[in-house]
Amino acid sequence: MTRPDIESCKTALRAAGIPLEDAAGPVQRKSRDFYWYSPILKRQLAEVTGDFIVSPRTEDEVRTVLATCYAHSVPVTVRGGGTGNYGQSMPLKGGCVLSTAELTRHEIHQGRLVTEPGAVMADLETACRAKGQELRLFPSTIATATIGGFIAGGSSGVGAIRWGGLRNPANILKLRLLTMEAEPRVIELDGHDVHKAAHAYGVNGVITRLELPIDPASDWIGVLVGLPDLSAALRFGLAVGGQDDILCRMISVFEPGIAERYFLRHRAFLTEGEGLVGIYVSRQTLPALETFATAQGAAIRFRDGQSEQRVPPLYEIGWNHTTLRAMKVDPDTTYLQMMFGDDPAAEAARLKARFGDEMRLHFELTRIMGKVRAVAMPLVKYTDEARLEELVTLLEADGFTVFNPHRVTLEEGGMKAPDLDQLAFKRETDPRGLLNPGKMIAWEDPDWVPVAGRTYLFGETAREGAE
Ligand SMILES: Cc1cc2nc3c(=O)[nH]c(=O)nc-3n(C[C@H](O)[C@H](O)[C@H](O)COP(=O)(O)OP(=O)(O)OC[C@H]3O[C@@H](n4cnc5c(N)ncnc54)[C@H](O)[C@@H]3O)c2cc1C
Repeated sequence: MTRPDIESCKTALRAAGIPLEDAAGPVQRKSRDFYWYSPILKRQLAEVTGDFIVSPRTEDEVRTVLATCYAHSVPVTVRGGGTGNYGQSMPLKGGCVLSTAELTRHEIHQGRLVTEPGAVMADLETACRAKGQELRLFPSTIATATIGGFIAGGSSGVGAIRWGGLRNPANILKLRLLTMEAEPRVIELDGHDVHKAAHAYGVNGVITRLELPIDPASDWIGVLVGLPDLSAALRFGLAVGGQDDILCRMISVFEPGIAERYFLRHRAFLTEGEGLVGIYVSRQTLPALETFATAQGAAIRFRDGQSEQRVPPLYEIGWNHTTLRAMKVDPDTTYLQMMFGDDPAAEAARLKARFGDEMRLHFELTRIMGKVRAVAMPLVKYTDEARLEELVTLLEADGFTVFNPHRVTLEEGGMKAPDLDQLAFKRETDPRGLLNPGKMIAWEDPDWVPVAGRTYLFGETAREGAE
């Protein structure tokens, strides 16, 4: 890679009228995300920082930034809300951090949202609701996450029980991006092609516009349902997810003890020792849920509006917010993400028998190919890095698919193998490898295969743990 000429690049960007910040404090703050969520990434990425931040206000300004950085061989890492928790938006090789904070224009149409990438998802949900509609999917970080960051870095969230995750091709209609070349080009993707650039951490184009499906709004009520144990809670959650007459937006399942210890504002309403199911249910179908719960021997312990105190919305105790709440009470908590198979209750029992309280189980339920499936986001008691790596190895040997949240690359986190479509698209859109370098192993090593216990870090410069 030709050496980046940072100073000339900054001068050219300022001369072009691009808002630019290069004071060390703000640059360092905007070079970080929720990487510290992982004790491993916290150590590995502590020193990472960009050289300057730009905040383009229009697609034309994004084009100017990309052309100027290309001309000066300066890497560009896009940043939305900076809530990614795998270091996705951290500039591993320094250079330019491109903030999308000023790119927030959006339009709501019937059944369709057209938006720039920097719009905060809570603002989009509010705008949709003003027109009687709602977002199809959002992460539990909706309050600060941007839509561009969700599409480029996220995977699923509230809405998954009905619509599956972002991999479901129906959940993104169109994606427009700019390439990283001497003269950046606009490329528009639709249908299956959106996956060339969706969940690609911004390594193969800067998204400047998105078109997403939106749906008629429902009035959602968060409820917490108590059951005798984890197994009963899982079976109940899966059964509710499969009911045609109960409309849900989110179903989370927690083993006994998690809620009492970590959901501080809810715990006064809960019964100790119960497995818990958190459900966003439409007001219209709440009576059907109540009837079903009674028939199953489940008890509704809490529903929104019941407390005089402010309690967090249900999504802020589910998805990755469960981990956040646990870390606040027990700082030695970390987590894993894994897919369960056809009999989640039996698999959960097997894990509990093997790992006990080292792994406390929390699930989010999602619909995949029409079937309700359990994604586990277990809270793990952290002892040291070696044990965490060992747990991943043991779980994989036991047949679980682990999406390792302690890795900074696309392949090691989720894909497990190079995504050849995304790689081919990167060759087309970023021929010099300047976009978010270090995040796609296949760019440096197309033949890469995962090796247990070894981490690919900072691109070609280091392989941690290599002999
Ligand atoms: C407590 C907590 C809970 C979470 N819950 C969820 C959850 O429920 N579901 C979920 O999927 N994730 C979750 N996350 C992860 C994260 O919050 C979401 O994925 C969020 O949508 C990321 O949005 P962001 O704007 O913060 O993106 P950032 O962190 O800023 O960026 C994410 C990635 O997208 C890239 N990017 C951003 N904008 C663009 C663009 N315009 N063009 C190209 N690339 C771009 C960045 O370079 C980076 O690689 C959670 C994280 C935390 C800390």
